[in-house]
Amino acid sequence: MALVTYTELGFYCAQADLYIDPLRRVAKALVTHAHSDHARPGMQHYLCHSDSVGILKLRLGQRISLQSMGYGESIWMNGVEVTLFPAGHVPGSAQVRLSYRGEVWVITGDYKTVGDGLSPAWVSVRCHHLVTESTFALPIFQWRDQQLVFDEINAWWRGNAAAGRPSVLLGYSLGKAQRILKYLDRSVGEVVCHGAISASNRVLESAGFDFGPWVDATEGLSGLRAGGRVLDGSLVVCPPNALRSAWITPLGNYALANCSGWMAVSKSGDWGGVDKGFVLSDHADWPQLLEAVRASGAEHVHVTHGFSETLSRYLRETMGLDADVVEQAMWERTEE
Ligand SMILES: [Zn+2]
Ligand SMILES: [Zn+2]
Repeated sequence: MALVTYTELGFYCAQADLYIDPLRRVAKALVTHAHSDHARPGMQHYLCHSDSVGILKLRLGQRISLQSMGYGESIWMNGVEVTLFPAGHVPGSAQVRLSYRGEVWVITGDYKTVGDGLSPAWVSVRCHHLVTESTFALPIFQWRDQQLVFDEINAWWRGNAAAGRPSVLLGYSLGKAQRILKYLDRSVGEVVCHGAISASNRVLESAGFDFGPWVDATEGLSGLRAGGRVLDGSLVVCPPNALRSAWITPLGNYALANCSGWMAVSKSGDWGGVDKGFVLSDHADWPQLLEAVRASGAEHVHVTHGFSETLSRYLRETMGLDADVVEQAMWERTEE
């Protein structure tokens, strides 16, 4: 039997009795990162990278049973060596290497191979079997250098500020928001964070991450105004669902933009209800996915979490690899 199989609960290593990012309650769950489509509540025991501890507790409860490990550290479970390596996706994200009697599997979780200066950079790990995500596995997805994107974002903000309008940038509260914060040009104005993002920021800052100064808007934007803050030239980072609440109302006539890999396939002039779209993703694009597969040296590739049919067919037909689709029914078109 293979060292890792796919079950209705998710990827499973029977020899170690260990599930990776399981879908429902199990005894031992190794969680690759704290996004909600990987870290689910209710597990008896969690294993994760040490930088994920704070966010996992914030999201799943302070009293969860949890063991953490650093990158490159190994633990042994019934003869299986379990090691985590950086995935470069968001802070605390890890690839999992499982090794037993000479057979090596790597499960990538979500990843990108290009460093973002926030999360420890992805490293290639040699293996026989690679389980790779495929969120953006179409040849049309090819990201530009992130500095070019941040130059665009800062120019957009500067223009809005000059016109006396606040700017609102949408970003998920773990990863995307902090990556944006890190590269915003504070000479333009103040950066204000929604409560959900502020909570993640604080946990990550106590783990040693630094993304520059920001103002906590947990108490609400009207409270900040009442406290004497001029929000007209500021940039507010909030999760998409904040737009559907009264939280955003005190800002008035704001300019709105979204930061997402999916913006690459929005028709120009139509950004899905926002004024502007910036193409920025924490997932590997098409060239990065191929690079990761090549660098792994794996002869067997199992594709999951996205455009898995397209990538597995390409790996079979063009690269001559033994590739198949292992679909996770739960996968949705999100950035998490
Ligand atoms: Zn994911
Ligand atoms: Zn993720």
